[in-house]
Amino acid sequence: MSHVSRRLGSTRSEEERSHHPGEGPTVLIDTYDRVATDLRVSLTDKCNLRCTYCMPEEGLQWLGKSELLSDDEIVRLIRIAVTRLGITEVRFTGGEPLLRPGLVSIVEQCAALTPRPRMSLTTNGIGLKRTATALKAAGLDRVNVSLDTLRPDVFKTLTRRDRHKDVLDGLEAAHEAGLTPVKVNSVLMPGLNDDEAPELLAWAVAHGYELRFIEQMPLDAQHGWKRDGMITAGDILASLRTRFTLTPESDASRGSAPAERWTVDGGPHRVGVIASVTRPFCRACDRTRLTADGQVRTCLFAREETDLRGALRGDAPDEEIAQLWRTAMWGKKAGSGLDDPSFLQPDRPMSAIGG
Ligand code: SAM
Ligand code: SF4
Repeated sequence: MSHVSRRLGSTRSEEERSHHPGEGPTVLIDTYDRVATDLRVSLTDKCNLRCTYCMPEEGLQWLGKSELLSDDEIVRLIRIAVTRLGITEVRFTGGEPLLRPGLVSIVEQCAALTPRPRMSLTTNGIGLKRTATALKAAGLDRVNVSLDTLRPDVFKTLTRRDRHKDVLDGLEAAHEAGLTPVKVNSVLMPGLNDDEAPELLAWAVAHGYELRFIEQMPLDAQHGWKRDGMITAGDILASLRTRFTLTPESDASRGSAPAERWTVDGGPHRVGVIASVTRPFCRACDRTRLTADGQVRTCLFAREETDLRGALRGDAPDEEIAQLWRTAMWGKKAGSGLDDPSFLQPDRPMSAIGG
């Protein structure tokens, strides 16, 4: 019996134990008693934008074709996660996941799993106009679209591409296709769009999108992040309060969600802030991550990875892969370490981990 199952045997119910007799437990638990139920899958490290807080203008050294998991390998790992490890939520991300040719088929195959996981997509929205209906039909539940500004010229500066209208069209198509609630992720950058918070919220309320601001994190490939320069959750809330009345939702309604949420002008509309830097939520974290080349990461900020691709390609049986995953998660650290003076940014940037 592994240390994981020994511990689980003492703290978790019979139900949570293996439904594969003689095999490991059907949960991904760590030494802080956190259970991961939410899997983030990066489908590619490539992107068609170059957001300044994410990657340099010239792009990055992309993963080679043989390094990337195939569609079948991705579906197999998600099946193992859902049927043997208690994963109930799957979010596809990247890089830009809409660049993955097999996306619709991957979603369709995951929708056929039992139990069926809830599925969402984090995307920059370019190409969503074309694919939203097919994604919904394949079984995708909802989308998060990243949009940092309502000003096309600022968008061009921030992303180094002139594609603002494509994102707006993508958002509209997602809403019409029923990929709801459509959430919008915004990062505010000093001197570029840091004055836009109220404008973005008014626009989101008018369109029925749920807006969430994300604090800029030290995950850019260029290592340009500076704590002094970043726009904090406190700055964002102060700016929003110049125009809106915000009422905090209770901690209970937050659960393990990274966003703290406020109702806007008495509701029903809400706004969220993901304050990974100034108000970390590691104690409630329920995430596990899989990179496009088949590495398990326990945290965005982890410096260690566990290789599942080697096991997959070495013909390991499902249970052996599940056990590698359990062992990786068992070693999850208490927190991101961002406040530790010895903090070191992970080698992989956000776009290669999957945000
Ligand atoms: N390309 C897709 C997109 O932009 O939505 C998915 C991947 S992207 C890495 C996921 C999210 O991470 C986006 O909302 C993006 O704004 C955010 N992001 C990227 N780099 C970031 C950073 N350094 N700090 C905070 N958020 C970041
Ligand atoms: Fe691409 Fe998303 Fe990174 Fe922007 S944040 S460069 S859209 S991966």
